[in-house]
Amino acid sequence: PKIIFSGIQPTGVPHLGNYLGALKQWKDMQDTARPLDKLFFSIVDLHALTIPGSADKLRQNRREMLTSLLAIGLNPERSTIFYQSSVPQHAELQWILSCTASTGYLTRMTQWKSKLTTLNPSSPSQSTTPSNPTISSPALKHGLFSYPILQAADILLHTATHVPVGSDQKQHLEFARECVTNFHSAWSVPLESRIFPYPQTISLDSSSRVMSLADPAKKMSKSDPNPKSKIFINDDEAAIRQKIKWARTDCVSTYVGEYDPVNRPGVANLLEILGGFAGKTGREAAEEIKEETLQTLKTLTADAVVSGLAEVRENFMLFGEDTEVNRQRVREIEEIGTQSARESAERTMEKVRNAIGLS
Ligand code: ATP
Ligand code: MG
Repeated sequence: PKIIFSGIQPTGVPHLGNYLGALKQWKDMQDTARPLDKLFFSIVDLHALTIPGSADKLRQNRREMLTSLLAIGLNPERSTIFYQSSVPQHAELQWILSCTASTGYLTRMTQWKSKLTTLNPSSPSQSTTPSNPTISSPALKHGLFSYPILQAADILLHTATHVPVGSDQKQHLEFARECVTNFHSAWSVPLESRIFPYPQTISLDSSSRVMSLADPAKKMSKSDPNPKSKIFINDDEAAIRQKIKWARTDCVSTYVGEYDPVNRPGVANLLEILGGFAGKTGREAAEEIKEETLQTLKTLTADAVVSGLAEVRENFMLFGEDTEVNRQRVREIEEIGTQSARESAERTMEKVRNAIGLS
């Protein structure tokens, strides 16, 4: 049987990119899993601490992400849905793995470099050696640097065999596999009693990559401050139609034509979104409507998004409303998730502590 693990940071309500690129696939995996397969979906709030903000905001974001995961159709009775911080074994295993993880390998990772640049656009360290731009920058905090070790711990703690990720995360999965090798070899764990399987990447690359509606050269992103750049999964019909109406296209032609993400990225993005809801690629969507006008493309896309997200939006309202019934329900779901994740974690940690002499 498979053990599937994936995580999402509580950094805001998911948008169309998160939905088509990840969350919809999570839901599909849950619905097509075999009875003995296990699924873990974690709200990775410890990872979110790498970008400090306000405590109240994080509390709200955690709750909102839980509401979002329920709204897209994850079922707490089938999948283990939990806050990373409610299972302290994640941090415990991170420390243990960090003792056999290579700093040099971490230095070569790209995510901390790009995050650091986004967080500190004017950082003077940017102008230093290009191969290693900011390793000695005071702005580089250790949590951001060692993020991949915590991510490896997330995956290995639940002995995940399959991890669905976007292309930006493939490097981290490779690192997690390296952690498996390093741990077993450093502590001389014999082959037959190996604790961690090598996690396999389920690539989500074939799923849609959604670009910003305001600037189709950038990906749609939770951290983009421009509200017109993205559609949230809980946007109402009027907001969805308005944002798509405003979406930047081009003056190359008033017709849809061929799928051409290089020369017509705005049009290609709408086609990608339209196709995404019909289980088609942007190219396939273009084939069907290439003779239509851009105005028709926008109407069709808005229709697809409005109806494609209708149920999610309704669920979000239902679960997100601040009522006593909902508070009780959320507490129960948090309880179930925490307990199930802790059991899974403790099973692994007993073996780990045994293997290294901490038992
Ligand atoms: P942030 O700006 O905070 O990094 P984000 O929008 O990039 O937020 P993440 O929490 O980093 O979202 O990613 C959650 C999941 O959504 C990941 O699996 C990621 O690959 C996917 N994802 C993020 N943005 C897009 C996008 N524009 N198109 C498709 N998939 C996306
Ligand atoms: Mg991101």
